[in-house]
Amino acid sequence: MSNKQIYDLSNFLGIDVPVNIPCPYCGSPLEISTIDEYVTCEDGSIEIEHFDLECTSEPDMDDNYAWNNWNRRHRNMPYVYWLPTYEDVKRWLNDNFTFIASDPSKNDLKKLAHWVESVKGSAI
Ligand SMILES: [Zn+2]
Repeated sequence: MSNKQIYDLSNFLGIDVPVNIPCPYCGSPLEISTIDEYVTCEDGSIEIEHFDLECTSEPDMDDNYAWNNWNRRHRNMPYVYWLPTYEDVKRWLNDNFTFIASDPSKNDLKKLAHWVESVKGSAI
């Protein structure tokens, strides 16, 4: 039995990343603002492929000076700093959540229904 949290992608409200995976540039907490790509596996389970990861220290865009400073600091060599963090967050997501999508417009309906039932069964 898994102790993963069930998360409905059709009602996505953002996910806070745990503080042990901080922003690689400034150490602030990260949050996932959108999940825009996922695959439905053979067994109907959902694996996250792509999401938007944001640093919570991002200042208001109206504050030009602060935002430019922040932006410059957060764009330095993303493949060295950002990508490994992104991959850590992706692993954390797929390890800790069981994703479902109650709005099946993008999914194979039968596979999904089967998966939702099996998830419900194992959660009790
Ligand atoms: Zn940051």
